[in-house]
Amino acid sequence: MRLFACGRIPLAKRGPMKRLDMLLNDRDRRLVLVVEDNDINREILHALLSKEFDVIEAKDGAEGIKQLEERYQDLAIILLDLYMPVCDGFEFMRRKRLDERYDSIPTFVVTASGESSDEIACLELGANDFVVKPYNPEIMMNRIHNMIKLRESAALVSQLSHDVVTGLYSKEYFGRIVEETFAADEGAAFDLICSDIVNFRVLNGRYGDRNCDLLLHDLASSLVEAIPGRIAAGRIGEGTFAFLIEHQERGWEGKLDSAVAKVPFANLNVRFGIVENVDHSMPVARLYSHATSAMETAKSLHGNVVVYFDDDLHQRQVMEQTIRESMEAALDELQFKVHFQPKCDEHTGKTGGAEALARWTHPELGIVSPALFIPIFERNGFITKLDLFVWEEACKEVVRCAELGLPVVPISANASRLDFDLPDLADQLAAIADKHGVDHSLLHVELTETAYSDNPEAVTQTMHRLRELGFAIELDDFGSGYSSLVSLNTLPLDIIKLDMSMVQQATALHDFRIVESAIKLAQTLGLKTVVEGVETAEEAAKVRIMGCDYIQGYYYSKPLVREDFERHLAAEQAERS
Ligand code: C2E
Ligand code: CA
Ligand code: CA
Repeated sequence: MRLFACGRIPLAKRGPMKRLDMLLNDRDRRLVLVVEDNDINREILHALLSKEFDVIEAKDGAEGIKQLEERYQDLAIILLDLYMPVCDGFEFMRRKRLDERYDSIPTFVVTASGESSDEIACLELGANDFVVKPYNPEIMMNRIHNMIKLRESAALVSQLSHDVVTGLYSKEYFGRIVEETFAADEGAAFDLICSDIVNFRVLNGRYGDRNCDLLLHDLASSLVEAIPGRIAAGRIGEGTFAFLIEHQERGWEGKLDSAVAKVPFANLNVRFGIVENVDHSMPVARLYSHATSAMETAKSLHGNVVVYFDDDLHQRQVMEQTIRESMEAALDELQFKVHFQPKCDEHTGKTGGAEALARWTHPELGIVSPALFIPIFERNGFITKLDLFVWEEACKEVVRCAELGLPVVPISANASRLDFDLPDLADQLAAIADKHGVDHSLLHVELTETAYSDNPEAVTQTMHRLRELGFAIELDDFGSGYSSLVSLNTLPLDIIKLDMSMVQQATALHDFRIVESAIKLAQTLGLKTVVEGVETAEEAAKVRIMGCDYIQGYYYSKPLVREDFERHLAAEQAERS
C-alpha cells in the first residue's frame, strides 16, 4: 500500500505565498546565499554567480542562519562550505532542518573535503547536492540551475495539491489520491471520515477570515494527530475535511471529541460522518455525499457528533431519492389523496369542523406517511404545490357536502412555513376558494409557531391578509416547541390547537394542569381551543370539563377518506333528526 504524507506548514510561521506566475518566471533574478568562511573562495563564487543571480553572503554557519531567517522567502538556493569556524556546515544544516519554512530551499555543499563520509553525512542532513573543489564552473552553474527549476516545479505542484490554509490536500488532489489508492489495492478495506464545522459560515461572519483560517488550521492539525492509520487528508469544502484511513473498529466518538476540544475556539461544534469499508467502485463524490448525509441526520444534535453511514441511512436515502423523482408525476396522476379528520364540537357533541390531511399512495412504495414525505417536500420546496392542491381538495369537499345536503363544516388545511415565501399566498388561497364558490368563513388555515418564528414579518403580513379575506387562523402544535406567549397576544389568531404531546404527557403523569392552563389562557385571550390527539374517553371527559371547544383525535375519529367522511356526517345528521 502506498502511503501519502500530508505535508503541513504551520500557519503562524508561513509567510505570504509567492504568486504562481512569479515562481516559474525565468527572467527573474534568483537570490543565492553563499555561506563560506574563506574570503577568496567567497569572492570567486560571488563573481561566478552574480552573472546570473543576486548574491548574499555569510562568513560562517551562524551568520548563514541569520541571513536565512531574514531572506528565506526570496532564497532560491544555498551554497554551503563545510568546514568553518563558529558554526560549521553540518551544524548549519542541522539548524536549517529544525524549521520547516526552510525545507523547500535546496542546499548545495561546496567543499574541499573529498571524504565520502562527509558526503554521506551531508546527504543525511538534507543536502541536495555535493561538489568538491576545485569544480568546473560551467557544470556547477548547470547543476544549480537544475536544482532551482526542480524545486520551483515542486512548489508549483504543491500549491495546486495543497490547501494553503490547512496544509491538507486540496479537494481535487485528495480525490485523485483516493482513486489511486483504491485502484492500487483492490482487496484493502478503507474508511472515509468527513468532518464538518457546524455553522461555519456564521462563525466566519462573526469572527472574520483570519480567525477562521486559524481555526481551520488548528482543527486540521488536531484531527490529523488524532486519526491513526491515515492515508490521506484533504480539505473538501469550506469547513469540511475528509480523511481516508485503513478500516478500523468503531469507537471514534471519544477520540474525535477530544481532538476538537483541543482547538482553542469558543462555540466550536464539529460533526463527523463515517463511511466504513468503502466500496472501491464508488465515485468519490458519492462517498462524500454518503458521509454528508450521515452528518445531516445529526443536524439537530448539539456537541460534537459522530454518525456512521449504514444500511438504514442508505435505505432512507434511496427512499428520499425515489420520492423526489416521483413527486411531480404523483401530483399529476392524483396519487395524493386528501383525508378528513373530523373535529368534535364539545358544545354539541357533533362534528364542528375537519382537518384536511395529505395521503400518498405510491405505486412502488405503497402508502407513504406524511411524516416521511412532508419533511422532504419542505426541503425541496414541493410542499407549496402540495398545500395548494390540498386546499383545492378542501374547497371541493365543502362544495360536495353542500350538494349532498350534508351539514357543512369548516375545513382546515395546513400551511407549511415555506408557503409564506409566496408574497400573495392569501390571495392565491382566496382565488381557489372563489373558483369553487366557497365562502371564506368555511376555510381555516393551520400554521405552526415555527413557521411564524422562521419568518415573523412575512407570516404576520400574510396572516393579516388572510383575516381580511375572511379566513380563520388556527395555531397548530401549540406547546410542542418553544411557545412564545407573546405571539399569542400579538398575532391575528382565532383558534389554538394544543399539540397532542400535551395530552399524552398529561395522561402519562396523571396531571392535566398544564392542559387546563393552556385552555384557560386561550379563553382569556378570546380564542377557541382544539385539543389534538385525544385517544380515550377519559381524556375526552377531562378536557371537556376544562372548557375546550373542540377535540380532534382517534377517540372521536381517525382521518377518513372522502366517502367515509361524508358517511360520518350523514350518520350524525340522521341521529340529529
Ligand atoms: P398535524 O397537522 O399536527 O396533523 C395531525 C396529525 O396527528 C395527523 O397525522 C393525524 O393523523 C394525527 N392524529 C390525529 N389524531 C390522532 C390521535 O388521536 N393520536 C395520534 N397518535 N395521532 C393522531 P398525519 O396525517 O400523519 O400528519 C402528520 C403531519 O404531517 C401533520 O401534523 C402535518 O404537520 C403534516 N401534514 C399532513 N398533511 C399535510 C399537508 O397537506 N400539508 C402540510 N403542510 N402538512 C401536512
Ligand atoms: Ca395540522
Ligand atoms: Ca397539530
